[in-house]
Amino acid sequence: MSELTELYKDVAVCKSCELYKTATKPVPGEGPENAEIMFIGEGPGWNEDQVGRPFVGAAGKFLDQLFHSIGMQRDQVYIANVVKHRPPNNRDPLPAEITACARFLDRQIELIKPKMIITLGRHSMARYFPNKTISKIHGTYEKRDGVIYFAMYHPAAALHQQNLRYEIEQDMLKIPPLLATLKAPPPPPVVEKPQQLTMF
Ligand code: URA
Repeated sequence: MSELTELYKDVAVCKSCELYKTATKPVPGEGPENAEIMFIGEGPGWNEDQVGRPFVGAAGKFLDQLFHSIGMQRDQVYIANVVKHRPPNNRDPLPAEITACARFLDRQIELIKPKMIITLGRHSMARYFPNKTISKIHGTYEKRDGVIYFAMYHPAAALHQQNLRYEIEQDMLKIPPLLATLKAPPPPPVVEKPQQLTMF
């Protein structure tokens, strides 16, 4: 059994916070173990809770369109959330719940080793860009230890606020060129010009 599959089993029996009591299914995350890009949302909603998979509702449909806009499919990226069980009535996850669940997300990152981590919404942004404001930093990135951390609005924001749709679409288009910067071949070595022999 892969370590990621073991992690999914641990998530399924986790009682580190109260969310498991009201959730239907755990939503640990999904995607290839060698994904280059990891998207991190907030927490499962009603649809995700029913089927145990991330972003399968309306926000997920928009996310799929965003993947297509950069020539990607959902099954090429890893999708996770900061909390793995649904907060009741779609309320925001509490800080204590995010902390209790953090070990799973940390381990997912350790195992998958993505080149790019893309935060979707305020709660995942807060874990990687503390004390920042999403309206200010969306569409920007920081590179740490060779990994690009890129902040985006949550795709559900576009469903409630049409004006954010364009911003989200534009931010998504920045991902492929950023990823390419990590793959760019190293510059050729500087070759010292041989000294010209001066003939007298
Ligand atoms: N919103 C999230 O943040 N995550 C999901 O999985 C679904 C909706």
